[in-house]
Amino acid sequence: MKCDKARELMSAAVDSELTSRENQAFTLHLQECSDCREEFEEAKKTKQIIQEKIVRFKAPQSLINSIMGLSLSSKKEPSTSPLTD
Ligand SMILES: [Zn+2]
Repeated sequence: MKCDKARELMSAAVDSELTSRENQAFTLHLQECSDCREEFEEAKKTKQIIQEKIVRFKAPQSLINSIMGLSLSSKKEPSTSPLTD
């Protein structure tokens, strides 16, 4: 397999959407090509970050609030709300 083809398959490989034949050829190429191997690692990392963001976005509001509360409580200045008089 050439690098061109490997890069073409890369996004599908990250999503585990390759056929077993494609996957075999792709894996073989990664074993002998460090460039594509690094590229693939980066692609996987990027996908993971995106997934984490999606998970966070879909997290229940109570969980988001407690996470926000944790980060807010680390600040020393109290936040003033315009709604409270
Ligand atoms: Zn390559």
